[in-house]
Amino acid sequence: MATLRAVIDGDKCQQEKNCPPMENCPANAIIEDEGFRFVTNDCRGCKKCVTLCKYNAITMV
Ligand code: SF4
Repeated sequence: MATLRAVIDGDKCQQEKNCPPMENCPANAIIEDEGFRFVTNDCRGCKKCVTLCKYNAITMV
């Protein structure tokens, strides 16, 4: 079975400046591009960002 990956819901994400998921991702897999935040292929599926996002904008798929 493939490892789960984190996905950011753009409607829920508040583009917070000091975003805990971005700052604490062990793989530095959360990036910002053209005003949206994405999870790259570097995601290891640890779920840390899901716990840290206070807007519940990140889910594992
Ligand atoms: S699940 Fe873990 S590795 Fe993947 S984006 Fe979230 S914090 Fe980073």
